[in-house]
Amino acid sequence: MMSCETAELALLKGDYEQSNKEALLVGNFVHSFFESEEAHQKFIDEHPEIISTRGASKGHLKANFKVGEQMIDRLCDEQLFTNMDNTCEHEVIVTGKLFGYDWKGKIDALNVEQGFFMDYKTVDDIRKRSWSDKYRGMVDFVRARDYLPQMWVYSQLLEQKYGRPFKCFIWAVSKQTPSDVQLINPSSVWLEPEEFWIKEHIDHIEQVMNGEVAPTACGHCEYCRKHKTITSAIDVGEILAE
Ligand SMILES: [Zn+2]
Repeated sequence: MMSCETAELALLKGDYEQSNKEALLVGNFVHSFFESEEAHQKFIDEHPEIISTRGASKGHLKANFKVGEQMIDRLCDEQLFTNMDNTCEHEVIVTGKLFGYDWKGKIDALNVEQGFFMDYKTVDDIRKRSWSDKYRGMVDFVRARDYLPQMWVYSQLLEQKYGRPFKCFIWAVSKQTPSDVQLINPSSVWLEPEEFWIKEHIDHIEQVMNGEVAPTACGHCEYCRKHKTITSAIDVGEILAE
């Protein structure tokens, strides 16, 4: 919603499908493994398109999903990861109220007793830098993909439910060969400012979702590139404007 209201509404209404579905599927493939053996098998059974039907690789996983397998293996090779993951419940739904609205989160791994939760993120390159309009600078993947507000919301929902603070961890694994792996523990210095960011935008987003306010098109995402119509010229200084 924060990157393009028009595209997100079209996606929610089912009027539009993102073209790079395979990258999303690889992420789901990796996630399902850590959910449970049954969930992983179910994912494979429900997605025959991940198996190659042509050439020498016929009957085997397609290249991107082979990388997915490699990412799973890389995480499993990390002793600290398995030690933490083995103590957790997986894909835990948590609900609550924030800023007067109902929220629902699905937490990848949760250990209530020890008071921590973990989210598993698949990334192209853990050290990749991208420009962020929100943070007005070059940022890491955690900020570029707005994982900080997600982690802040999860920690709030857990604190509401259990009445005590929870520690948050991100396990990142890269799609490179070999895969890079990293454990990230965002501190409150990074998480707390996200409360104000959500607070600032949540009423407007709700109005857009309800159809009370027309959505704003970003003008340059995949959806906008397909659907925009040029009616006038812009100046050079506007080319990189938000
Ligand atoms: Zn857009």
